[in-house]
Amino acid sequence: MDNTNDPSLKSWIKVEEGSDFPIQNIPFGIIQRKDTSPHVAVRIGNTAIDLFILAKSGLLDASGIKPEIFNNDILNPLISLGKPYWRSLRKIISELFEVNNSILRDNKALHNEILISLDEVHMLLPIRIGDYTDFYSSIEHATNVGIMFRDPANALLPNWKHMPVGYHGRSSSIVVSGTDIYRPKGQTKADNDELPKLGPTKQLDFELEMAFIGGKKTELGTSVSTDEAEDHIFGMAIFNDLSARDIQKWEYVPLGPFLGKNFGSSLSPWVVTMDALEPFRTAGPKQDTPILPYLQFTGSRNFDIELDVFIQPEGQKPLQVCHSNFKYMYWNMAQQLAHQTVNGCNINAGDLFASGTISGPDAGSYGSMLELAWKGTKPLKFHDGTERTFILDNDTVIMKGYCVKDGLRIGFGEVSAKILPAK
Ligand code: CA
Repeated sequence: MDNTNDPSLKSWIKVEEGSDFPIQNIPFGIIQRKDTSPHVAVRIGNTAIDLFILAKSGLLDASGIKPEIFNNDILNPLISLGKPYWRSLRKIISELFEVNNSILRDNKALHNEILISLDEVHMLLPIRIGDYTDFYSSIEHATNVGIMFRDPANALLPNWKHMPVGYHGRSSSIVVSGTDIYRPKGQTKADNDELPKLGPTKQLDFELEMAFIGGKKTELGTSVSTDEAEDHIFGMAIFNDLSARDIQKWEYVPLGPFLGKNFGSSLSPWVVTMDALEPFRTAGPKQDTPILPYLQFTGSRNFDIELDVFIQPEGQKPLQVCHSNFKYMYWNMAQQLAHQTVNGCNINAGDLFASGTISGPDAGSYGSMLELAWKGTKPLKFHDGTERTFILDNDTVIMKGYCVKDGLRIGFGEVSAKILPAK
């Protein structure tokens, strides 16, 4: 931790009480203003700070980053520079916007161009995602799914406590928060049907996940140790990995998830750096089965991130359906990266690694409708008296993530997706 994390730090930019984005956060995103090209930005309170214009003014020169890096519709070129650059940039921004620093504060002529109200920008998908890996690292989620679909006595498969199980997903359908998603069509086969049918999914689900963004490329044939792993992580965002359970159930044997998982997944637009999350580091669950040396780690590698999920039927108030926490993850991100690369698989800046559904120990903390409504047996009741076992057309799913400790709140904002009827 350095003084960018100091809870007493204040900015000369207005930050509302309870905001996810105090000066200790400084998340990165891509803003699009009317009539200009997209630029890299950071956020304090409800103000976006255009880093291309700021860099052109010379005030970011000490970072050693050329202004053109910020004249971009993706963060990848910035991420590719490596951690020393992001860290130095974060420090310079923290100092520039600190309440007692007059350099930019009193240069009002620059404010118009550099400081933009969030109402005036459109947020773009911040990363050009190369490869996308989806893990399955919550023990509660894996256990619940095992109980529902296989055998309560042997809910976890034999490999589960020996490796962070995952699969390679598809990046083309990952979209930024606020993008509508069409209900997918696909093959399904009910247990008592003889043949499969094609039609819209009847079991559309959300998966509450956090994603981390690969921050440093590696060479094919090399591996990343758990000790080095955090140098390869740029930051984190909230991820809703929408899933069609009936399509998934029929297609997934023997090669795993396919079309039930790649019709749309939503990412929150602001990427929170690992430096901003440092004060919220915490120990994970005890791993009670001996693990191979390449998965062993030192220190606290989990993060205490509160997670809320809401479903908002059209014309109604959102109903909170889940409160969970990232700290429940059995496998941590360092172990996931070590496992991903143990065979020599290379990673690139801008790769996306999702945690898998994050469920906690109690029923209100389950991170999917499948678990919350327990395979359709416990429907959720909504404000208007309607019930849901899965997501209905025109519902909007909203997920929020935030950390709170010692009076400091660092958040991710939200990721939302409205479900439209099948095309
Ligand atoms: Ca998933």
